[in-house]
Amino acid sequence: MIDELQAFIDDHGINHFGADEIVRARRWNKLLSPDRDLWDNVIPALTIADCAREALGAPVRCASGYRDSRYNGVLPGASPTSEHLFFRALDLQPVDPTLMDRFREIMIALVEYARSQGVDARMIHYGTFVHVDVGAAEGKPRGSRLSF
Ligand SMILES: [Zn+2]
Repeated sequence: MIDELQAFIDDHGINHFGADEIVRARRWNKLLSPDRDLWDNVIPALTIADCAREALGAPVRCASGYRDSRYNGVLPGASPTSEHLFFRALDLQPVDPTLMDRFREIMIALVEYARSQGVDARMIHYGTFVHVDVGAAEGKPRGSRLSF
């Protein structure tokens, strides 16, 4: 699964994030397996993340990507209807925490740009990371095209 997912995100031009980190259940130290039907869902959020990483010019970690319902259920504070369950959400943080303010500014600009293009992108700020999800609204095409 992981090699196919890697090839899939490579095909979508993602340069800075690997399949491994977007499906890793960190607390369990294992990889989860999103259904193939869900793979398109992650591309818009991943495209924003990749652009933000490029603009920051420094490593960005995906702290949480896909979650199955069992894993989501053990995370304190995780919503039972979390967009992570649909592989539409990523929690991101610069590896160097001193870059967090700059990273937030970049993410805000990218999400505003995406929204101006009619892409249903959303951001939630937490202390040590930024959550971004794209395509949650019903009726939006999955894997909607997003280019910067
Ligand atoms: Zn999140």
